[in-house]
Amino acid sequence: MLKVHTGSRSIKDYTGIIPHAEFEKILSLSNKLKGLKVLHINATAFGGGVAEILHTLVPLMNDVGLSADWKVIEGTQEFFELTKRMHNALQGKEDDLTEKDIELFMNITRKNSDVNFGEYDVVVIHDPQPVAIPAVANKGSAKLAWRCHIDTSTPNKKFMAFINSFMKHYDAGIFTLKRYAGQLSIERLYEIPPSIDPLSDKNRELTQEELKKSIEKLKIDPNRPVITQVSRFDPWKDPKGVVDTYRNLKKNHPELQLLLIGSMATDDPEGWEIYEDLLRYVGMDYDIKVLTNLNSIGNIEVNAAQKLSQVVLQKSLREGFALTVSEALWKGTPVVGGNVGGIPLQIIQGVNGYLVNSVEEATKYTDMLLKDPILREKMGNKGKEIVRNKFLITRHLKDYLELFRDLVR
Ligand code: UDP
Repeated sequence: MLKVHTGSRSIKDYTGIIPHAEFEKILSLSNKLKGLKVLHINATAFGGGVAEILHTLVPLMNDVGLSADWKVIEGTQEFFELTKRMHNALQGKEDDLTEKDIELFMNITRKNSDVNFGEYDVVVIHDPQPVAIPAVANKGSAKLAWRCHIDTSTPNKKFMAFINSFMKHYDAGIFTLKRYAGQLSIERLYEIPPSIDPLSDKNRELTQEELKKSIEKLKIDPNRPVITQVSRFDPWKDPKGVVDTYRNLKKNHPELQLLLIGSMATDDPEGWEIYEDLLRYVGMDYDIKVLTNLNSIGNIEVNAAQKLSQVVLQKSLREGFALTVSEALWKGTPVVGGNVGGIPLQIIQGVNGYLVNSVEEATKYTDMLLKDPILREKMGNKGKEIVRNKFLITRHLKDYLELFRDLVR
């Protein structure tokens, strides 16, 4: 396993952003947990929501007095192809888990057993890729939690049974929504939604200069309307549905531009295929930009795209949470999002955006927003407050501290 080095964060920097009471609560909880040794394990240090969160959560845990580490497992291309299939199957896709798959999974798991859980008080293992490590590593007296970020409420049964066979090693399960845990046998269930960091380059206020540079990199005309979806190249994120929505809108909004921003995560080999297929689907329309981290679209450019867009789309068909929704709302941009998974936690119909079940609905609501700047501003302001109250990293930290307190009590 490889240790991930993060930047630093100080809880004090959040005082002007979050309510004072929340700040006090964090300090009071962390005072009782000083020196607690915590380890987070996941599959990748970059790309996707889990890495995004850990880059802030881990340094914040250290800042409030815990001793937190983050390690990522090492795998092969073949292994990550299997775990991507696993991810899809756990979200409900038809597939078959073969003996060969299980052998590969356990082989890589064993290669990542070079960790002594006994050195920690609490170990949090994120998502399916490292789920089996407790079956082969020395657990010592550490308390173990499995944090599943995906929507496993209607899973492929064979894959779910496989995951379930490891649950006996865990003391707690953490899900974005309790109902995701449906068929798993876990003793203690915690519901903890993800969060965004208001101070990260992804979410902080950008300077005029940064915005100007980002516009150049995003290759958009700032005087014409833009809609954006930011997401990995993944069929569940429905990028083609977004293109269809844009094409419908283009008839009444000939000036409209579409930004499709997607990163290539190291644990997501399917991404390239989807990307190439999407480019073909987009064809010769130069008002659609398909951009990736390989076009130097990083956190600041994503931030600018979410800020500058009239509407942000997250037209997912399955979704654990969709950090991208809270990210856009935090910038005062209304979001039209798929009515699935964790998106309805963040979007209140007609208040800060719209929940949609089809391309037609996405077209209808995006059209309404594009036509009405006052509505956009009203919804954007509401959206920001909803995120402030529920989906900032400080609330997430507080939830984790409460969980740790329960586990080591
Ligand atoms: N992301 C990014 N650049 C991209 C695509 C995604 O920075 O090109 C970030 C996005 O801003 C968000 C995270 O990756 O912070 C994706 O998290 P989300 O929960 O939306 O989806 P996941 O990838 O975990 O399914």
